[in-house]
Amino acid sequence: MKDWETLKSEIENCTKCNLYKTRTRVVFGVGNVNAILMIVGEAPGYYEDKKGEPFVGSAGKLMDELLESIGLKRSEIYISNVLKCRPPNNRDPLPEEVAMCSPYLIEQISYIEPKVIITLGNHSTHLLANTNLGMTKVHGQIFKRENCIVFPTFHPAACLYHPEWLKLLKEDFLKISELLRRE
Ligand code: URA
Repeated sequence: MKDWETLKSEIENCTKCNLYKTRTRVVFGVGNVNAILMIVGEAPGYYEDKKGEPFVGSAGKLMDELLESIGLKRSEIYISNVLKCRPPNNRDPLPEEVAMCSPYLIEQISYIEPKVIITLGNHSTHLLANTNLGMTKVHGQIFKRENCIVFPTFHPAACLYHPEWLKLLKEDFLKISELLRRE
C-alpha cells in the first residue's frame, strides 16, 4: 500500500477529470488517520474549494453540531468526500468524475481502516453501501463492507431546507453513538 503522503500528493496533483481546470484547491480530507469513524460526503462546495478542507460551510457547521451532540470532535474522526474537487456551481458529480476519483477514497479507507463509515447523502451511500435505493429507504440502516460497517444518513446540506429530514438525521446520529459504543 502507498504511504499517506504519497497518496496525498498524488491527489493534490490529479488531472484525471476536468474538475482540475476549475478547482481552487483540492480537498483531500481532514482528521485523525487512526480514527474508528469516518464521515464521507459528496464533493467540496464553494468554501471547501477556497479553504482546501471538507465541510467548512453551513453544512459543516451542522455536522459539527451533530458530532458535538454525541460527544465527538472533528479532530477525532476522519472526514472526506467522494470527489476531491468542486463541481462547478455545486452541480451533482458526473458518473465519470466518480469513476476517476472514487479509487482515491477507497485508498483512504484502506489506509485508515475505520470500523464505521457514515455516508452523507446518496452519492457516498451508493458508492460505499453498494445500493441504489434512496435515502428515505436506507438511512439509519447498517450495511456491511469488507472490514467495516456503512451507516447511511441524510446529507446535512439537504437537511438545512428539509426540517423533516433534519429530525431523522438527528435521530440517526443518536443511533451512531450507540453503534460506536458497541464496536
Ligand atoms: N458537502 C459535501 O458533501 N462535502 C463537503 O465537503 C462540503 C459540503
